[in-house]
Amino acid sequence: MYIIDGKEVSKTIKNKVKEEIMVNNYKPCLLVIMVGNNPASLVYISSKEKACNKAGIEARTIMLPENTSQKELIDVIEKANNDKTVHAILVQLPLPNHMDTKEVIDTIKPEKDVDGLTSTNQGKLVLGNASIIPCTPKGILSLFDAYNIDLTGKNAVVIGRSSLVGKPTALVMLQRNATITMAHSKTKNLKEICLNSDIIVCAVGKPKLITADMVKEGAIVIDVGINRVYDTIVGDVDYYNVSKLASRITPVPGGVGPMTIASLLENVVECYKIQKNIK
Ligand code: NAD
Repeated sequence: MYIIDGKEVSKTIKNKVKEEIMVNNYKPCLLVIMVGNNPASLVYISSKEKACNKAGIEARTIMLPENTSQKELIDVIEKANNDKTVHAILVQLPLPNHMDTKEVIDTIKPEKDVDGLTSTNQGKLVLGNASIIPCTPKGILSLFDAYNIDLTGKNAVVIGRSSLVGKPTALVMLQRNATITMAHSKTKNLKEICLNSDIIVCAVGKPKLITADMVKEGAIVIDVGINRVYDTIVGDVDYYNVSKLASRITPVPGGVGPMTIASLLENVVECYKIQKNIK
């Protein structure tokens, strides 16, 4: 078994982004908008800010109280849409229950939609001509590239069908010519599907959902899940036992997580270049 080292690969990508910004004297700016004070979101925002600053990206944050109305949030987004000094906008999810996430996200100008979550950018992803690929799927593709993993003709299962991770991951892997099965909470024969898969990508949020008896020898396992168990962070895969069977596997932490941040930096620069008409 070989570990797919997301920490290492993400460092290389972050350095490339930093160099591109420095060499070309780009001045990209990411605006993060957060509503409420979800502790996990606060941690994510702080690591995004740190990574941006290190790469030479200006990171601004607007924190709004939990009882902000949807109209007030949309006003903030529209102001940022029209602000020429802001090139990328990220609305930290989840939003409070009184908001319609889709409506809020669709207010972001597609060329500033750094997470690739607007209907326009998701539609482009389906058509295969996306300019902004959501950060986690993009990070997973970068891992495949870094380890020369060719998806052509491989049987792959993507478990989880969220718009943020599962669906876009299946789409980008399909574009790389994998034969995709999408599994979700209503899937009946998950074990059978996994046993038939050369690649398993799991993005559910349930510790030990994928156990050794579900994985065929030599499979590649990408664990997207982030679960807090007591004081530690674990993925969705029973890493200890599955790693004995898999040919390659991502650890948690240190696998997909750091790649998501690296892809965010790449997407900020992508948004900047789209707006400045830089090819
Ligand atoms: P989500 O809750 O929106 O989606 C979970 C999906 O899992 C759903 O589509 C559901 O159908 C499916 N599911 C639930 N139970 C299942 C079961 N028993 N069998 C098969 N499928 C089942 O979550 P999300 O936003 O897609 O995130 C998924 C996980 O990935 C979470 O743990 C999240 O923290 C993590 N995540 C990690 C990163 C990263 O950078 N590593 C980024 C985003 C999300």
